[in-house]
Amino acid sequence: MKIVDVRAYVVGGADQGADYHAQSSGHWITSTVIATPMSKYPEYQKTRESFGIGVLGTTMVEVEAEDGTIGFAVTTGGVPAAYLIEHHFKRFVVGRTPDDTEMMFDQMYNASLFYGRKGLTINAISAVDCAVWDLRGRLRGEPVWAMIGGKVRERQPMYATTPRPDLAMQMGFMAAKIPLPYGPAHGDDGLTENVKLAARWRETCGPDFPLAYDCWMALTPEYALRLIEALKPYRFKWIEECLPPDDYAGYRTLVAQRSHPIWITTGEHEYTRYGFENLLATGVEMIQPDVTWCGGLTELLKIRGMAAARDCLVAPHGSSVYSYHFAITSQATPFAEFLMMAPRADRIVPMFSPLFVDEPVPVDGYLDVPDKPGFGVEFNPRIERRRPFEGPRPR
Ligand SMILES: [Mg+2]
Repeated sequence: MKIVDVRAYVVGGADQGADYHAQSSGHWITSTVIATPMSKYPEYQKTRESFGIGVLGTTMVEVEAEDGTIGFAVTTGGVPAAYLIEHHFKRFVVGRTPDDTEMMFDQMYNASLFYGRKGLTINAISAVDCAVWDLRGRLRGEPVWAMIGGKVRERQPMYATTPRPDLAMQMGFMAAKIPLPYGPAHGDDGLTENVKLAARWRETCGPDFPLAYDCWMALTPEYALRLIEALKPYRFKWIEECLPPDDYAGYRTLVAQRSHPIWITTGEHEYTRYGFENLLATGVEMIQPDVTWCGGLTELLKIRGMAAARDCLVAPHGSSVYSYHFAITSQATPFAEFLMMAPRADRIVPMFSPLFVDEPVPVDGYLDVPDKPGFGVEFNPRIERRRPFEGPRPR
């Protein structure tokens, strides 16, 4: 069964999906103070919206087989990703069968090496790859988890990323991860506030509930080591993405010089087996690839194998069903992330809402991965989408 068409769409408006940051104002993810690599500039300190975190938006890819069956997937990438898919990657997909996942990834990756390797280009490849896996499952009548090794546990334990760990605990999540408010530019006062917040949530959640801080690339090794030391009394389980993704030497420093065995974790902005090889060599305890960014499911399966050989955990970043189908097949993934996307993080809403129909959500902290074919969700027909690059490619 051959693939006859690939179509890339952008999804209009805020609050729509795969780009979590494309939210209307007032949402905790855009409106609370969260440390970022831009926090050193006062004009971009207050919110992540201010420096353009939602600028790309969602790209949705459809892959159609000759019998009319359509698979789809989404990523963060917007119009530029749609351009790459329509004008470059499509040629490596049309005419193949959905079983050819290895060949398609290899050709898309190698053909874009001269401008790609990381970031937006690999996001676009990831969406095509996941759409092909979705189509493959639909044609075979099998869920993706069944095609990549089967379930290794009945239900997937989930942790919550949230500014309200107390509510996450009440909802049954096995752990909660809090966005770190302040970075090095806020000086000693900011560090004190970060530690006070940790103390407050430790006190509220009791001594045993696992807590973590997510630093979203905002820190320096020196600051991270000071923060780690100050967090010691509050027994945080891990500290995530302290440093910019290219600072592998910095991650090695954190692993070697931390004053207590808090896990060093990172990887949501890392790409392909090559990037993760660099990261794994630093000795971090857990990597957090995003399947819709890191190279797709085809590449994530290779990354998982590399991590498993080092006893490194793989707890995928966000990404809803694309992560759920992976996590349930993975011995290296005892828990996975659920982003609390309700504006005040006070109730459970589907992570990519309202993009999908039938998007599963955790119940009492566990996710039941659906048995429906492919990734098991349909694109919401009420969502407006636009195909910006239909037609012949430019020279
Ligand atoms: Mg994170």
